[in-house]
Amino acid sequence: MPQLFGSKELVDDVHKRDLCIGCGACVELCPYFKNYRGKTSQLFACSLSQGRCFAYCPKAEADLDELSRRMWNTSYDARPLGVYRAIVAARSGEAMPKGRFQAGGTVSALMVCAMQRGLVDVAALTGRNGLIPEPRLVTRWQDVPAAAGSQFMASPTLAGVNLAARQGYKKIGVVGTPCQMLAVAQMRTNPLAKEEHHVPVTLAIGLFCNWSLDTRQLNALLSGRVAAGTIRGMDIPPPPANVLILETDKGSEEISLSEIKPLIPHTCFTCLDLTSEFADLSVGMFEGRPGWNTLVVRSETAARLVADAQADGLLTTEPMPAETVAHLTAAAAAKKERSLRILLQRDLVNTVNGQRAAVRIPREAMARILPPRDSNR
Ligand SMILES: Cc1cc2nc3c(=O)[nH]c(=O)nc-3n(C[C@H](O)[C@H](O)[C@H](O)COP(=O)(O)OP(=O)(O)OC[C@H]3O[C@@H](n4cnc5c(N)ncnc54)[C@H](O)[C@@H]3O)c2cc1C
Ligand code: SF4
Ligand code: SF4
Repeated sequence: MPQLFGSKELVDDVHKRDLCIGCGACVELCPYFKNYRGKTSQLFACSLSQGRCFAYCPKAEADLDELSRRMWNTSYDARPLGVYRAIVAARSGEAMPKGRFQAGGTVSALMVCAMQRGLVDVAALTGRNGLIPEPRLVTRWQDVPAAAGSQFMASPTLAGVNLAARQGYKKIGVVGTPCQMLAVAQMRTNPLAKEEHHVPVTLAIGLFCNWSLDTRQLNALLSGRVAAGTIRGMDIPPPPANVLILETDKGSEEISLSEIKPLIPHTCFTCLDLTSEFADLSVGMFEGRPGWNTLVVRSETAARLVADAQADGLLTTEPMPAETVAHLTAAAAAKKERSLRILLQRDLVNTVNGQRAAVRIPREAMARILPPRDSNR
């Protein structure tokens, strides 16, 4: 485990280097960090030399090997899709209440099953107020579908996990992006080893994510074009569509991706994970099969939950075509390579000469991501 630091180092290493994604993992731990309209800031200085804020942050010396050993009992070897047991096609089943699901409703169905079966007593989900994504804590399975759908902005969802832990919930479920799943994996290890800091996450459902959008910049771009209060949902269909579609009360509005892509936070270009490798299970779109999801089953808990959801009629699965898995694997490998090059250019991999890194990766794993001439770091 690398040395842990406090909020001063978090601000220096993450905020000032423009690496903060606004995941919310450092919010609701103390009175000092707040997220406002997508941006996390420190309101007052804190003198603690070590803090959970630094320890949970997915952009502050995240040690992929340590996490992989703790979660999967194996060292981090940069395999493109991470450690998994199975990949299947999935969608919500007949017993699942209707909702405005992003694709097949697999995420919502799994969370409903987890709550019905008692695996989770509070779910940390993401809602939206106008065009501002917000954490939503849900304690009744009937309320899960109301938080369905993707908000394609970076969201402070994990503030909800910290709040739930503080409120004394003992079985927390959470849905989030790969960077958020990395933070959750760090939370689960209780890095400061204090009993009162235990975060009882019993289920982490990860999403696939190639990039997200900066909330403030998206609001600025759309101001005067779309009334935020009229937006019902958003979608980014697979290529060749090349648009962000906003479903509004007055119909749908298409925004070209060439307008949208400049709003991607730079930190997304330093992100190595497409498929939430540190979640119990991961869910993404099934390109070419609308209404279905790709479901990656990783942990034992996840395998049991999928079986339970099928038995309860909440989930339907089918085998995943080998060419779809190959396509996903290639996309995940490409993201790793692209991001590792940028991390290396910025001296953000493995602490060198006292400069703290954003991420720690074994050399052998780097060599698997990059051709040999680039990996002698
Ligand atoms: C920023 C972002 C980028 C994505 N990029 C890709 C991609 O490149 N390729 C791909 O295949 N899939 C991507 N997805 C995932 C995809 O959009 C669907 O979420 C996924 O396929 C699950 O579909 P579903 O019908 O099962 O979800 P639903 O049952 O509709 O549930 C969606 C869940 O996502 C949660 N959620 C919504 N917005 C956010 C957010 N901003 N942060 C954290 N949690 C959120 C909700 O709380 C809800 O629980 C992305 C999602 C997000 C949020
Ligand atoms: S924990 Fe999340 S919100 Fe806090 S500094 Fe790190 S990336 Fe930003
Ligand atoms: S690309 Fe990575 S850093 Fe950006 S939102 Fe997605 S998971 Fe987080």
